[in-house]
Amino acid sequence: MTGAVYLVGSGPGDPELMTVKARRLIEESDIVLHDKLPGPEIIEAIPEGKREDVGKRAGGERTSQKEINERLLELAREGKRVVRLKGGDPFVFGRGGEELEYLREHGIEVEVVPGISSAIAAPAVFGVPVTHRDHASNVSFVTGHEDPTKAESAVDWAALAATGGTIVVLMGVGKLPEYTNALIEAGMDRETPVALIERGTWSDGRIAGGTLETIVSVRDREGIEPPAVTVIGGVAKRYASEGRK
Ligand code: SAH
Repeated sequence: MTGAVYLVGSGPGDPELMTVKARRLIEESDIVLHDKLPGPEIIEAIPEGKREDVGKRAGGERTSQKEINERLLELAREGKRVVRLKGGDPFVFGRGGEELEYLREHGIEVEVVPGISSAIAAPAVFGVPVTHRDHASNVSFVTGHEDPTKAESAVDWAALAATGGTIVVLMGVGKLPEYTNALIEAGMDRETPVALIERGTWSDGRIAGGTLETIVSVRDREGIEPPAVTVIGGVAKRYASEGRK
């Protein structure tokens, strides 16, 4: 008897933005494996006895992807119905693809349940549309936290600047100085609006704004921390002046 794994997106954090399907699968599951990203409101609503935090181990160190994969496999082989709950959408910078491949290679049945990604939803709740007929007819979703073992930058910031569209950076709080500089060096206007949305859709979510030139000092002054998305482009115009000193 083999169980099944459901790779489920929990949405950006507001429990009401979780899909009906995600909610049902959590209820019907034997166990839910999660990290911190789904947010406290969603995590705490799952009975304690059936959730397992695979984000951090007791020592505070991160559980490796290999350990998570192996744990999912082990539970499925025990015949369990496992929900692997991931913040936002499981396939947007969530390593969902790696978990899917690993489990399928080992003969486990996997169902993928999409979720609302924070990349779109966190700006949306503050009235920042990622596309707008007057400002952006394309949008790029980028990681701001590259694998440090990569010899060359996997993100071509100059090419992104050249699209003229909105750039949404995930995992981009720490490296904000590096990529805002790269964009300015690539010829992007220093006055380009930038918004940082921290814990978007959570009850304590907030937004701070500035420009490519000022946003690092805005981040430091406001103490913006992950999880946050960075939105770069005319769509964030409404917030651009707030961060200026
Ligand atoms: N799969 C997720 C993203 C995982 S990567 C999704 O689709 O939303 C983790 C990054 O997501 C964080 O570093 C942050 O940039 C972003 N993020 C996730 N939840 C967020 C939220 N509620 N508000 C702002 N950013 C969030």
